[in-house]
Amino acid sequence: GRWTTGILAAFLQGGDGGDGRAEELGRLDRLAGDGDFGTNITSALDRARQALEAEPPQDYRGWLTAVSRGFLGTGGTSGPLFGMFFRDLARCCDTGEPTLAEFSAGLTAAVATVQRYGKAEVGHKTMVDALVPAARTLEAEVAAGSQAADALARTADAAVEGARGTAALLARRGRASYVGDVARGVLDPGAAAAAIVLQAASAAQS
Ligand code: ADP
Ligand code: MG
Ligand code: MG
Repeated sequence: GRWTTGILAAFLQGGDGGDGRAEELGRLDRLAGDGDFGTNITSALDRARQALEAEPPQDYRGWLTAVSRGFLGTGGTSGPLFGMFFRDLARCCDTGEPTLAEFSAGLTAAVATVQRYGKAEVGHKTMVDALVPAARTLEAEVAAGSQAADALARTADAAVEGARGTAALLARRGRASYVGDVARGVLDPGAAAAAIVLQAASAAQS
């Protein structure tokens, strides 16, 4: 529950009481895409929040399933991709909270699903640029026997670094690929959103 609430808060509340991260992300999509990313995220999270309030879930799986459904009911490319991403993360443990190893396996599966449907590789300037290094980092942290808080902090850092790197790239997938050079210098909003999700996971743990 804490984690999901963290995701909702991270997107919907700005760092300094502004319009929220969704607004910033929407601005990025206006610079290099079609501008609907912010409203896509906001409507997905509103739908999730209504479901969570109507029927508060009992466990991790229930919380993330509600988030997943919120995204699956949303338009744009990111809606179904994030929807499937959260669905796989929800499935990583049956009840209660996942262990770090279970969460890592869920993240790896979720990233593979995003890549199977979206056909994006690292370097194509999409959410995959944040998600792949994050999943790999977490696998390595689990293998090294790291504490959950440290492992998730490094995972979030890897996602942020991956997202930052998208600014220098030309898009090869999604609408930003139609605008060519115009997208250079602009962060990919999907990658930034993925990094925010992993930062929320890390913050919930620490
Ligand atoms: P749309 O481009 O349909 O308006 P959104 O604005 O909701 O979709 O989402 C745009 C984001 O979706 C991009 O920033 C990018 O991260 C992600 N994206 C687009 N195409 C793909 C893809 N093929 N694989 C993975 N992510 C993608
Ligand atoms: Mg868009
Ligand atoms: Mg669109």
